[in-house]
Amino acid sequence: MALETDYLVIGAGMTGLAFVDELINHSDAHITVVDKRDAPGGHWNDVYSFVNLHQPSVFYGVGSTELADYRIDTAGPNKGFLSLAKGPEITAYCHAIMRDRLLPSGQVTYLPFTEFEPQGALHSLLSGARETIKVRKKVVNAAHYTNVIPLTHTRKFKVDSNVTCVPPNDLPRLATHFSHFTVLGAGKTAMDACLWLLTHGAPASAIRWIIPRDAWFVNRAKTQPGPEFFDEVFGNFADQRQDLADATSARDLAHRHEASGTWLRLDRAIEPTMFHAAAMSEGELEKLRTISDQVRLGRVHHITSSAIYLERGEVPAVLGNLMIDCTASAVLPKPLQPVFAGDQITIQLLRFPFLPLSAAMIAFLEARFMDDDEKNKHSTPIPIPDTVEDYLRILKPDMDNRLHIARSPILREWMSLSRLDGYSRIAAKVDKGDLKKLAILHRGREANKTAYANLQNLLAALPV
Ligand SMILES: Cc1cc2nc3c(=O)[nH]c(=O)nc-3n(C[C@H](O)[C@H](O)[C@H](O)COP(=O)(O)OP(=O)(O)OC[C@H]3O[C@@H](n4cnc5c(N)ncnc54)[C@H](O)[C@@H]3O)c2cc1C
Repeated sequence: MALETDYLVIGAGMTGLAFVDELINHSDAHITVVDKRDAPGGHWNDVYSFVNLHQPSVFYGVGSTELADYRIDTAGPNKGFLSLAKGPEITAYCHAIMRDRLLPSGQVTYLPFTEFEPQGALHSLLSGARETIKVRKKVVNAAHYTNVIPLTHTRKFKVDSNVTCVPPNDLPRLATHFSHFTVLGAGKTAMDACLWLLTHGAPASAIRWIIPRDAWFVNRAKTQPGPEFFDEVFGNFADQRQDLADATSARDLAHRHEASGTWLRLDRAIEPTMFHAAAMSEGELEKLRTISDQVRLGRVHHITSSAIYLERGEVPAVLGNLMIDCTASAVLPKPLQPVFAGDQITIQLLRFPFLPLSAAMIAFLEARFMDDDEKNKHSTPIPIPDTVEDYLRILKPDMDNRLHIARSPILREWMSLSRLDGYSRIAAKVDKGDLKKLAILHRGREANKTAYANLQNLLAALPV
């Protein structure tokens, strides 16, 4: 029987799930979801067991269904902050969303182990069969960003066969067989691996950390979407805008963000060049600073049994060492394109750095707005940042989208109700008589105006 559908969604990762979850709220369209993997959840199916979300679970996932209860951790490295789901919890959630929410709607057909090929055919990866599908409305690319994780990536360096170099997924299984550990990479995964080792009893002196580039981190204390954190979070939002209004360059903005508690760095003597929006707490960084063998000689080129060869030098090998490869680049930057283009939708970031929220908003726009120009007006895609300068490049579309949403009553209302936008929900609930909170929000709005004007100057001064 020939396949037919209204929407063909490519990818059953969190992006595809969040899009479909929202679309079925507003439309009775039939949706076919295809994925090369055997199960929903995308890269979460392959992550290391001790991975955490960067953001609190209370506003991650799909719009209809909580990922976790509202809970503040009372122990551990995240003490005092809203809890962060672990990888297996997110995977289980994604499986449940497909099983208990999307499929029972009667509107969704899910085809696992099925690749959408560039020519438009659906290729069953088990049977090898190829089928065409008639798409009555749109093809939705929910796999625009490639998530590159250590388990599945291709290493950009050489490792001799007598060296044990593993992704972090193997760390819990192998750790007790080694007396020394070298963590390769300086992103969130590397931080997780170092913290896991430290909190599981490895002495800091048994860890060597290869840091190719230093990064600025988002201070998790300022990203807590809960009423008890209102003053700190919204006060910081106003500070961020004031920082931007006063900044003279991207680097100067980074330092202002550090002074306002918005950003953190591992070593205050080193100027970070990277910004991937990873969130850390001051407590976690304090722990990581106990690792004194930090190697800053650029990227790894070659690992042999006697040495690690890097861009700018080499370090000798340590006996009984396990190499932990955390060098995968997570989300890869991609050329931007219009979100809505005729019979194609390409899901991209509309609110930095929240991809599921962006996917849900795109579904809402698709269902409730008429023409592509109108939809695209509210959905300028935001690039994936790599450097501190890129941070300026994401701020402009992010602020533009916020402005357009604020001017659209229907979108404003949708945002203020969406569980995926923890912040608008809280701001919308401020009591009209609560002068202190209103003053904080007002300060943010005022700073926003001058910040936007200065952002244009800062962007104009950036190299093309
Ligand atoms: C360690 C880590 C922590 C993170 N923490 C957060 C966080 O706190 N908050 C946040 O917002 N984001 C976080 N992210 C980002 C996270 O990647 C996104 O939230 C989200 O999970 C991305 O989902 P996705 O569906 O876009 O991509 P993926 O998970 O990569 O899924 C894409 C799917 O598309 C499928 N696919 C691709 N091409 C095809 C094709 N041609 N045919 C069929 N199927 C195809 C793939 O098989 C895959 O299953 C984190 C990422 C990592 C790595």
